[in-house]
Amino acid sequence: MSAEGGVEIVGQGLAGCCLGWHLHWRGEDFRAFEDGRKGAASQVAAGLLNPVTGKNFEPSWRIGDFLPEAVDFYEKVGAEVGIPLWFPLSVVRLVAEKEWGKVSGKLEQAQVAPWVERVEENLDGWRAAVTLRGGGRVDVKGFCAATKKMFEVRTSKLDPSFVEDSAGRPPSSKKRMVRCEGAFGLMGGAMGDHRCAKGEILTLRIPGGGESRILIGGGGWLVPVGNGLFRAGSTYEWEKLNGEPTMAGRIRVEEILERLGVENFEVVAHEAGIRPIIRRSMPLIGRLPDGSVGFNGLGSKGSLYAPGTARRLVDWLLEGKEIEEDLDLEHWMGGTA
Ligand SMILES: Cc1cc2nc3c(=O)[nH]c(=O)nc-3n(C[C@H](O)[C@H](O)[C@H](O)COP(=O)(O)OP(=O)(O)OC[C@H]3O[C@@H](n4cnc5c(N)ncnc54)[C@H](O)[C@@H]3O)c2cc1C
Repeated sequence: MSAEGGVEIVGQGLAGCCLGWHLHWRGEDFRAFEDGRKGAASQVAAGLLNPVTGKNFEPSWRIGDFLPEAVDFYEKVGAEVGIPLWFPLSVVRLVAEKEWGKVSGKLEQAQVAPWVERVEENLDGWRAAVTLRGGGRVDVKGFCAATKKMFEVRTSKLDPSFVEDSAGRPPSSKKRMVRCEGAFGLMGGAMGDHRCAKGEILTLRIPGGGESRILIGGGGWLVPVGNGLFRAGSTYEWEKLNGEPTMAGRIRVEEILERLGVENFEVVAHEAGIRPIIRRSMPLIGRLPDGSVGFNGLGSKGSLYAPGTARRLVDWLLEGKEIEEDLDLEHWMGGTA
């Protein structure tokens, strides 16, 4: 399919902004719409990018494909807008005694070993600390703000039901409309069942906190963001999906901090957002049943997957290049489109 007459992007979170850059680099005309909803994930995300994750200590899905592309992408955009967006950092995974059997068994495995820089055992309060290479932090909020400025994004709603939008624009073909609406689209039923999860996050000032590494352990993480500030998170809540921070959420993040051994801190901000989850953190792109195009499901790992997924979407939109089966929305939805 060719995108004659330009593309319309609904939503300017990570998904919509990455899509905008790839269209721009291909010289394709587009218009983007963003109506600034409370709870948008990209406005609160810590931007942490960790190559080996979770209780199972597994490399992220297709990390070899998506990580180099993501790093190149953020460096290139950062150079174009004149703001650093990618901050490489060591990731220190703290391992409790009960996790050590599983983690230690993975350290020598071919898909894990290249990410492991060093292992220290028998630390104060932890069975081990595994330092991983290849990770870092993306300034997600800064990236979205710089992108919106660069492309003069329209601050209005684009109604995906597509009769006429609030900017008074006449109806046009849904085929060129890409819905990058994050959790708001999923909660509206755009892609069938979803598993969106609210997350709460604290921004902290920590005197003397280590600014050179990301700490992961105790069910959460602590990420340095510069100038003595850190972000800590995060909670998962599947019932009340909104952008409101809660006292219960704050207490849960403070418990994570205690487990990570962080005692002296000042809370500078407390925010909440909704992760757009369809099937863990594996995004989907392609034709929706209503004829428009979807790009969603970045889950908890938008920083890693958004750039490479957006590029693949543009390859399909502009050149008709086939979408890989494991990213293909139509395949996932059972060929309903
Ligand atoms: C607390 C928390 C911490 C996180 N930490 C990390 C992390 O450390 N690392 C990581 O990789 N990921 C993290 N994530 C996940 C990451 O934030 C998401 O994967 C990513 O931001 C999703 O981007 P998106 O563009 O799909 O959705 P969103 O960021 O939600 O963007 C969708 C946008 O569309 C707009 N919109 C929707 N409908 C319309 C419409 N009709 N018209 C106009 N605009 C519309 C909304 O206002 C919104 O801005 C975190 C998420 C949360 C909640």
